[in-house]
Amino acid sequence: MLSVGVNGYGTIGKRVADAVVAQPDMELVGVAKTRPNFEAERAVENGYPLYAAIEERAARFAEAGIDLAGMVEELVEAADVMVDATPSGIGAENKSLYESHGTPALYQGGEDADLVDTSFNARANFADAVGADHVRVVSCNTTGLSRLVAPLEEEYGIEKVRATLVRRGGDPAQSGRGPINDVLPDPRTIPSHHGPDVQTVFPDLAIDTLGLKVPATLMHTHSVNVSLDGDATAAEVRELLENQSRMFVIPEHLDIDGAGKLKELALDAGRPRGDLWENCIWGESVSVEGDDLYLFQAIHQESDVVPENVDAIRAVAGAADADESIQTTNDALGMGL
Ligand code: NAD
Repeated sequence: MLSVGVNGYGTIGKRVADAVVAQPDMELVGVAKTRPNFEAERAVENGYPLYAAIEERAARFAEAGIDLAGMVEELVEAADVMVDATPSGIGAENKSLYESHGTPALYQGGEDADLVDTSFNARANFADAVGADHVRVVSCNTTGLSRLVAPLEEEYGIEKVRATLVRRGGDPAQSGRGPINDVLPDPRTIPSHHGPDVQTVFPDLAIDTLGLKVPATLMHTHSVNVSLDGDATAAEVRELLENQSRMFVIPEHLDIDGAGKLKELALDAGRPRGDLWENCIWGESVSVEGDDLYLFQAIHQESDVVPENVDAIRAVAGAADADESIQTTNDALGMGL
């Protein structure tokens, strides 16, 4: 059993903790939080040993009636692999903590790529992370694009990717974020930073991305154009994508017109928190004009990186190869809609 600790128990951290618990070959040794709140209380209710991330604030947990298992240093010492799911930039500050205990660590997409030995997407470059000490699981948008690029690159070769990312203003619980009544080019400069982030996984890929932010919280939507090297038909591409394990090509007859119905489907299907771990690609949008492939995909920002974190744990521990790990993760989570 791989012993896994999670430092930072928010949107990503709590999902990764639950996903670790679901794995047949992993044990959650605990989670670390900075302050007591509803998530801290839930962690204890779930039976997850809770550690204080900041010693000076540890007393606040006792004041709130929440029992601690100890300080984060003890968690790091006990773990074979740490998953850092703290806010952007804090992971970099925590790196020395993991190093001082000789514990390999995963970081999230909010950290800089140069913090780590390799950036990670299970479908694209699992092997690069095998045995690494510091690995970054790329962001939700980069994960969504990487999953799409990998099979297209293998099957046809890619001349260039152009993608417009229509991004949710904030997650549902982020009540302070916006916009609330606007559509923002974000960043206003073109291309956006997302393309270079995809190149941390595919160094030789030609890709330009444009970003916007909109008053939505449920999911991101990508409008994608891929200029392919090889000949393809829309039907062939659709079949290729349907055969990828973390892609849900939405059949027309489901009559799903946007992220609202997608989330409803996930809730109806009993998905934890209504999570959609897969890229959700509208089947009827998959089109080929000459060498150009076009499609729309929705990306659930809160959860698509969760199975990737689970695979990255096995990669750094050298516990499985890519196919084995992806299959185990998918089976344990109940992937597929
Ligand atoms: P979040 O704010 O929901 O959760 C972060 C948690 O870490 C909070 O509970 C916070 O209290 C805690 N924390 C703060 N400082 C800490 C410290 N020093 N030690 C331990 N815990 C600390 O953030 P999130 O959305 O889960 O994002 C975490 C990382 O995942 C970021 O790098 C982010 O860019 C990335 N990410 C987020 C999303 C998303 O849409 N939410 C998607 C993909 C990747």
